[in-house]
Amino acid sequence: MKQTPVKRSSQKSTISDFDEPTPKNSPENVDFDIVRYFNDGKSHKKLLVFASNERKQCYEYVFVKTPLSYYGCNKCFAQKKVIKIKTETHEDGSRTFDFDTDKHICEPIEYLPENYQSLIIDSSNFKFEKRPVKGKIHPLLIIFASDDKNMCYKFGFDTCHNMFFCYECKKQYRNFTARFIQYEEKTAIEVNRLEHICKPQKYIP
Ligand SMILES: [Zn+2]
Ligand SMILES: [Zn+2]
Repeated sequence: MKQTPVKRSSQKSTISDFDEPTPKNSPENVDFDIVRYFNDGKSHKKLLVFASNERKQCYEYVFVKTPLSYYGCNKCFAQKKVIKIKTETHEDGSRTFDFDTDKHICEPIEYLPENYQSLIIDSSNFKFEKRPVKGKIHPLLIIFASDDKNMCYKFGFDTCHNMFFCYECKKQYRNFTARFIQYEEKTAIEVNRLEHICKPQKYIP
């Protein structure tokens, strides 16, 4: 299925009912991770692209929010070279990455996994459903909170912000968000760098 790209991040989505998104990166086989790391007591988000198959070295990218959002290599930027991984946000809230970049002038850094926490949830830990609400069908994203899948967090799609929000966190004014991405050539979920302030609920299929 060809997806219609949302041209600008400020553009509002118009669809409120859709099937499970199947975003595709280009190329699809790049080894990367989206992570949270702590610096000065604050959490930040980074995109890591591994420079070797064994995940020994990586390039670190930070999100640059302009009308055309992208991830830029920090170390190259320090040397006045802009290396961009372009992202596209689709109408169903999914995000795709274009990993075709210019050549870095920086050297990759050593990958130290203990410095980062992945923000990617793989397909065994979530479920996409459609449920009727007031006579209309709405997409519902279930993210499991336990291995036995008895407990979960429920996310509804917000057409104004074009992403999924945790319902219970939103009631408490916390924007815990999620969107579909492609990871390790499968459909996965990327969450933002915050923590839930809500409690998981019993999952009723
Ligand atoms: Zn670089
Ligand atoms: Zn929550």
